[in-house]
Amino acid sequence: MNSSQSFWSPVVRDLVPYTPGEQPNIAGLIKLNTNENPYPPSPAAVRAIAATAQDGLQLYPDPQATSLRQAIAAYHGIDAAQVFPGNGSDEVLAHAFFAFFQQDQPILMPDITYSFYKVYCGLYGIAFEVVPLDAAMRIQVADYQRACGGVVIANPNAPTGTGLPLAQIEKLLQQHSRRTVLVDEAYVDFGGESAIGLIDRYPNLLVVHTLSKSRSLAGLRVGFAAGQRHLIEALERVKDSFNSYPLDRLAIAGAVAAYEDRAHFEKTRAAVMQSRELLSRQLQALGFEVLPSQANFLMARHGQYDAAALAARLREKGILARHFKLPRIEQYLRISVGTPLQCEALVGALRVLLAA
Ligand SMILES: *Cc1c(COP(=O)(O)O)cnc(C)c1O
Repeated sequence: MNSSQSFWSPVVRDLVPYTPGEQPNIAGLIKLNTNENPYPPSPAAVRAIAATAQDGLQLYPDPQATSLRQAIAAYHGIDAAQVFPGNGSDEVLAHAFFAFFQQDQPILMPDITYSFYKVYCGLYGIAFEVVPLDAAMRIQVADYQRACGGVVIANPNAPTGTGLPLAQIEKLLQQHSRRTVLVDEAYVDFGGESAIGLIDRYPNLLVVHTLSKSRSLAGLRVGFAAGQRHLIEALERVKDSFNSYPLDRLAIAGAVAAYEDRAHFEKTRAAVMQSRELLSRQLQALGFEVLPSQANFLMARHGQYDAAALAARLREKGILARHFKLPRIEQYLRISVGTPLQCEALVGALRVLLAA
């Protein structure tokens, strides 16, 4: 043990924290590495945040974020009591792991998925087993048919971008009727099928959303879980044992306004989906194999060029793409869909690099 670590709780010495994609502060950088939305948030959200900043910041926010629960519930056609908002979906996920996955059996997750899931397992001492994606990098629900402490999947999955149809989600829910099935729908608004409409029928279903991707509010830190009341109550117990006010006044006001501005949401997500399809065709024309994506990013590999080397060369040209040094995906680049101009710059840079 390093002496500076002697102050640490033993569990901290063994933690393997999540490594976020880089957020460098370099002007003119084309940032296609962390799946942020290339478009700014709703102007109504920005106005609501500014107005709120003028009024009442000396006071604590509503610990229940009632207005936000109502706005989310109205959008999804569910009850406000079925919504649990939090400080980014990462916080909501962490509370859900703590609340539901400390069981006598390991939880199941795909081998290739959001790498934070394993980090929460490490933080809370939750045992897990990984279930390999098939050769086409898809989740096969039949492979999850075994006793477990719960299941977590991202749908569409990250970083692959491939989505599961709702009928498959229902199979998973039926296979594990006595365990919580957590479906992380961070990217669902870019072409996936949401399971939120299933919560009244499945007491074991918890769906998690974020405002960071499809609502362009990564900087505001808002996410939520939707599920039946007994699941939401467990999350509320964890939250109120940790931080009573995870959502500040600015976040609540901005998030409510974002949900109310449906036109902005529809316009920006349509633009991202359109650019994704064009970019996918252009990457394939350059010789990349591109996984089918229902998200705001593409997972692509090139038979002749090493992915880490390509990422490094792109970086020299001021373009960031994400490379994961992980088994099965180390030859892929995960490329967030940018504006049409950003996508053009990427394709132009790749054309030059691949020709060299
Ligand atoms: C981006 C992402 C999140 C985190 O979202 P925040 O709300 O910004 O914390 C959660 N899950 C997946 C799969 C993501 O890609």
